[in-house]
Amino acid sequence: MSKKAKAESEMMLKLVSLAKRRGFIFPSSEIYGGFANTWDYGPLGVELKNNIKRMWWQRFVHGRGDMVGLDASILMNPKVWAASGHLANFTDPLVDCKKCKKRFRADHLLAAQGIKPDLGTMKESPKELKICPECGGELTSVRKFNLMFKTFVGPLEDESAVAYLRPETAQAMFVDFKNVIDSTRTGFPFGIAQVGKAFRNEITPGNFTFRTREFEQMEIEYFVREQDWQKYFEHWLNEMKEWVEALGLKAEDVFYHEIEAEDLAHYSKRTVDIEFNFPFGRDELYGLAYRTDYDLNQHAKFSGQDLQYTDPETNEKFVPHVIEPTWGVDRSVLAVLVAAYHEEAAPTADGKTETRIVMKFPKKLAPYQVAVLPLSKKDELKELSQPLAQALRQHFSVHYDETQSIGRRYRRQDEIGTPYCLTIDFESLNDQAVTIRDRDTMKQERVKIDEVVNYLKAKFDGN
Ligand code: ATP
Repeated sequence: MSKKAKAESEMMLKLVSLAKRRGFIFPSSEIYGGFANTWDYGPLGVELKNNIKRMWWQRFVHGRGDMVGLDASILMNPKVWAASGHLANFTDPLVDCKKCKKRFRADHLLAAQGIKPDLGTMKESPKELKICPECGGELTSVRKFNLMFKTFVGPLEDESAVAYLRPETAQAMFVDFKNVIDSTRTGFPFGIAQVGKAFRNEITPGNFTFRTREFEQMEIEYFVREQDWQKYFEHWLNEMKEWVEALGLKAEDVFYHEIEAEDLAHYSKRTVDIEFNFPFGRDELYGLAYRTDYDLNQHAKFSGQDLQYTDPETNEKFVPHVIEPTWGVDRSVLAVLVAAYHEEAAPTADGKTETRIVMKFPKKLAPYQVAVLPLSKKDELKELSQPLAQALRQHFSVHYDETQSIGRRYRRQDEIGTPYCLTIDFESLNDQAVTIRDRDTMKQERVKIDEVVNYLKAKFDGN
């Protein structure tokens, strides 16, 4: 293993271990030995994830006048997937090793050998795809594998009861398009936004939460006139750039990969993949696609419904074209964890130095914004610190911790990325003030208790 690869895998091990130790992300069903590639967001992970989703909704739905929300079913009429093309096209090319029984994505195996895979025409296995990279066994020929999870609705397990777990949230925005325009007074152009789970029976899940079979997406379908698509594509590209900054990802770790015409999905005329330098390599974080009027036309054809928009002033009818920015929630959380992770040399109480691990989350995304840490468990301090914590809970997410030495408690808060720690000491009983420590600078300030809320509010403003 090269030095770089070793450092990268060490970084992932550190992150996975911190995520488990501190309650961000646990292996799912762990007491039963786990369940491959499934993960649970623990008490801190759910806060971080919800903060990301809230920030997204605030920015792109509440923060704009041209967006409405939707929360659609995961199970939809199976005709949706015939119309969208998922039944026919949502496949990955798969090969199996006849000896070790491992499965691989044929395109990934070819890409690893520097060969540009031609997904559309991959029927015959190329000669580079004959031998298993793990055990040297013989590989099967390439098969198309549909990624949708199939299930049965109701008690009969026959073809008439087949349904699919949605592989993306997007289709509901097209299927509900008519209901949305009939029930709301949207102007034009406008968008529909949705956050929700999607399911894909990935052949090669892995890299922690990067590729899983159950994941969450935040998607927007933005409806425009055909002649305006370039303008709005640029608009959304810019919005996505600003979003990435708000997550605290460094510009030099983010790449905008223009997909070549021959590699575009069947519905797209332009796609940009937004990629991030994950510790295991550069890979897709988000996507932005111009989907033309493909989806609305397909659903109009398959449902027999009129899915045109009528201009209220001119009565002109037309099928809108669509710009689709899409964000993976889990990949957002992973990228934020990667970007936030820092190891620094910090002085100890006895004048030595030690390594402090600090998660430098953007302040508004931190699972806890404030920690209240009374120096001792004695009742007289409790009388001050507990009402203070309760008052702060009305404005911030607060963690209360009165066990262990203050040094260890600071380290713990650094590891979970709490921006401000408040310590209440015996002097607080006299001066009605607390010490507030900044996570990043470790500087401490003495602040009067009745000024604490405003002091902290000012610190969070604009951050
Ligand atoms: P990939 O090429 O990595 O398989 P994709 O291009 O198929 O991804 P899209 O269909 O564009 O992905 O899905 C939109 C977003 O949903 C992705 O940018 C990603 O953030 C997220 N996503 C897609 N598949 C997964 C998965 N299996 N696990 C976690 N997140 C995913």
